[in-house]
Amino acid sequence: MKKPNKSANLDWSSEAPLSTKFNDIYFSIENGLAETTHVFLDSNALSDRFKTTESLTIAETGFGTGLNFLTAWALFNEQAPASAKLHFISVEKYPIAPDDLTKALALWPELNELSEQLIAQYPSNVPGFHRLCFDNGRVTLTLMLGDAVECYRQLDAQVDAWFLDGFSPAKNPDMWSPALFKQVARLSKPGTTFATFTSAGIVKRGLRAVGFQVKRTDGFGPKWDMLTGCFTAEASTKDTALMEETKPMEETAPMEETAPTLSPAWFQLPHKHTGDRSALIIGAGIAGCSTAYSLAKRGWKVTLVDKNTRIAAEGSGNRQGALYAKLPVEPIPASRFHLSGFLYSSNFLTQNLADHADIWSPCGLLQLAASDKELAKQQKLVKSGNYPDSVVRFADQCKASAIAGTPLSNSGLFFPDAGWVTPPLLCQWLADQPNITVVTDTEITRLERDDNHWKGYTRNNQILTASVAVIASAADSRLFEQLNHLPVQTIRGQVSLTNAVNDAPQLKTVLCSEGYISPAKEGRLCFGATFDLRDDATDIRDSGHQHNLAKVSDMAPELGDSLSQYHTEKGLDGRVGFRCASPDKLPIIGPVPVYESFLNDYARLRHDAKTVIDTPPHHFPGLFANLAHGSKGLISGPISGEIIASMLDNEPLPLEKELVDKLSPARFIIKNLIRRAI
Ligand code: SAM
Repeated sequence: MKKPNKSANLDWSSEAPLSTKFNDIYFSIENGLAETTHVFLDSNALSDRFKTTESLTIAETGFGTGLNFLTAWALFNEQAPASAKLHFISVEKYPIAPDDLTKALALWPELNELSEQLIAQYPSNVPGFHRLCFDNGRVTLTLMLGDAVECYRQLDAQVDAWFLDGFSPAKNPDMWSPALFKQVARLSKPGTTFATFTSAGIVKRGLRAVGFQVKRTDGFGPKWDMLTGCFTAEASTKDTALMEETKPMEETAPMEETAPTLSPAWFQLPHKHTGDRSALIIGAGIAGCSTAYSLAKRGWKVTLVDKNTRIAAEGSGNRQGALYAKLPVEPIPASRFHLSGFLYSSNFLTQNLADHADIWSPCGLLQLAASDKELAKQQKLVKSGNYPDSVVRFADQCKASAIAGTPLSNSGLFFPDAGWVTPPLLCQWLADQPNITVVTDTEITRLERDDNHWKGYTRNNQILTASVAVIASAADSRLFEQLNHLPVQTIRGQVSLTNAVNDAPQLKTVLCSEGYISPAKEGRLCFGATFDLRDDATDIRDSGHQHNLAKVSDMAPELGDSLSQYHTEKGLDGRVGFRCASPDKLPIIGPVPVYESFLNDYARLRHDAKTVIDTPPHHFPGLFANLAHGSKGLISGPISGEIIASMLDNEPLPLEKELVDKLSPARFIIKNLIRRAI
């Protein structure tokens, strides 16, 4: 799931799009809609289920043109009550290029209104999970780009209905493997239904072998038959034996791929929250506000508390912040998380805040090479094919200067979907939603669990109560005894600010290298930042301004000169904030482990790091952490809210489980046990 697969190559010489790789059409032009309705919607009884179910999760193999998704969405709109939610999960190994998608979907004018929304959010070809929200969160698409088995192994979800699509087993034998059927079974529960256009024996036996009851029913049009059925969890031993004899399939599915899930026991997530849907969120920076937003959108009653007189008064308080992800040549889990977060934030902001030029400016960003070594790395990154050029492309010095609108000293990487954000206004917008009550000037100093609720005791002896608590108070989280084992540190940062600078070059895109500067907002510039370890002083220092000015001059000499002159004549303003970071530089997002129980339950790791322990993890019920976003809160904040809300409502997770595990608050205990440091 690391390198993007090539986009699908489509042949348009006949009317219907044909995949040249599989030599098969995506849909029939005469009756594609009727076929989807018969095979996938009717055979899963979706019309009735939409009427009566509050939330339904459909999963598909082979997203292709998205026709099945759009048809299911249209039926959901017709049948489901206003409060209902649809989660649609799909996987695509060879994504269709955006132009082909537009051309293919134009063939279905009756779906235009929905197709346009899909096209507007269709993701770049970056391997991994993409979370897209439609209709104000009523419909969610989790589109996984990569191989079906690999992606479904990374999915944490419970599926109600399967659309087993994908080209026919004769044309695409690799996909219809025992490993895939195992994943389908792992993600199903008794009563989960499936439907598929094929009636191939290999599919029938494969599904029976993993616990589905399978029946043959009438196919669509000239096709004689197809398969439908229901998960019972009772595997047919006859079919299991038959599948084991199926040599060609075995060859395409190595044994290790059939392991049901990658996660060790200690990263298992708590069961769905069952109490009343009230949440107390402590800390109203980008992490807390994003969590409040994602929960409120799902109907939770949220109390968002901050000790300051206004929200976003600390780490999320700068006038402007850059939204982009620094990428290594070869993706690693941490960079995949950052890239997913960047793509999620950029899409989220564009969908929701396109008309709020004071909050979000998608003006692009140039990451300039600070040295020859870095330049070589950037060139290697672009050539590696690891990132599509819709995400990042190379700009030589001349081109970069033209993009920036001022002469630059170096070449760099250009991120067209990046830009700047005003974090306090974004936080304000996130918190200004129905279902959220903001309580400022209130410091919670202690949390206690009482029956089914958390009680937050404030400094002036008030008690705030909710069934779930989320601690999003950066380094202040250490005040809570439940979290005092977390290794977080603060890093001071000073930014420099101007008032109106009329004669400085007009910057057109964000610049970053060892420092950063955004285009002027309301005529004023914001640039920075210092990185001061073991320093908790809040004074604004001239040495900090000099550092920030030097970094701008390194990138854009003329702009740097203007700013230095401004400083000499008028004096720069500044702001000091404190980033909260963890030792591995990833945020801490998820259920809070009970430290002592982890020490006991996983003690054997001290002697054998590879030992398999089945004991499920012991978390504080309904207690979550969301902190340590460092200087990357704009990319990791918005998706962190989705992660926590999805965990609490037992919805499909928006990211690969492997990545969610990397963010777990329990990871430090596990690492320390393995290192015998505790
Ligand atoms: N459901 C689609 C729609 O509504 O347009 C049509 C699906 S098309 C018939 C089959 C899709 O499966 C193709 O887009 C193909 O690239 C994809 N596919 C084939 N093998 C795959 C695999 N191993 N993993 C993921 N997707 C795969």
